Amino acid sequence: MRQVYVNGDYLPETEARISVFDRGFLFADGVYEVTLVLDGKLVDFAGHMRRLRRSLGELGMAFALTDEDLLDIHRELIRQNDIEEGLVYLQVTRGSADRDFLFPAEETPNTVVLFTQKKSLVDSPLAERGQHVVTVEDLRWRRCDIKTVQLLYPSMAKMEAKSRGADDAWLVKDGYVTEGSSNNAYIVTPEGTVVTRDLSTDILHGITREAVLQCAEDLQLRIEERPFTVEEAENAAEAFSTSASGLVSPVVRINGREVGPGRPGPIAARLRQIYLERSRASAV
Ligand code: PLP
Repeated sequence: MRQVYVNGDYLPETEARISVFDRGFLFADGVYEVTLVLDGKLVDFAGHMRRLRRSLGELGMAFALTDEDLLDIHRELIRQNDIEEGLVYLQVTRGSADRDFLFPAEETPNTVVLFTQKKSLVDSPLAERGQHVVTVEDLRWRRCDIKTVQLLYPSMAKMEAKSRGADDAWLVKDGYVTEGSSNNAYIVTPEGTVVTRDLSTDILHGITREAVLQCAEDLQLRIEERPFTVEEAENAAEAFSTSASGLVSPVVRINGREVGPGRPGPIAARLRQIYLERSRASAV
């Protein structure tokens, strides 16, 4: 049985408990991170910790554990669950207190939960085939840069995509794509420029995005960080998404229209390969 971490203890998942008054449960008052595991090691752990601190800071949430503490916990869970490839999920909430919109006292202990998911992410049938995406209006709150556990709208968008026969939703605000339901979105123009939305409060600042843009720069690809329209995406030469769980995932159909020849493109394939090589080399 899977072992999980809850507030200092490693427990079988069926024995783990959190309070019904937990603010993560009642108010989505919590933040999370998902870190990729390759060869039993953590990919871009420092980047995930940097973003975790930023999310906590933006929400004014105190948190006592250090990055070293969290690295130890991640590694212990990987060891106990024998994870070679998969994900580690980390969630920190403002803790539990009697239900009140006002935050509880600063000294209220956080709730800290971690668990692993054993998954084959490198050999992915979806990445081989290429994703079909449909566009859905971006109705999320206006602080999409904070990685909160408030994921109902992305979940609804993904359900809508599924009901329309697609694999995922790309979210659209004022005619421009913001990002995928749980990933960053990119197109490659017919001229070969990689385009992805610029960083702002409209999107999550993907850790994979940062690494993949560095790969693109090192490959001397032209990069433009700017919003792109749905029409531009439908007429692109290639499209893809990035995330810790999807790595670099080609998109071959947008709103039922084939992107380029309707097969995963060479730039996405090259970026996926280089990103994987670098991630394996730098994992801790
Ligand atoms: N955008 C959204 C909305 C996400 O939920 C995620 C990941 O969960 C990403 C982008 C990709 O971020 P990362 O590359 O850090 O996994």
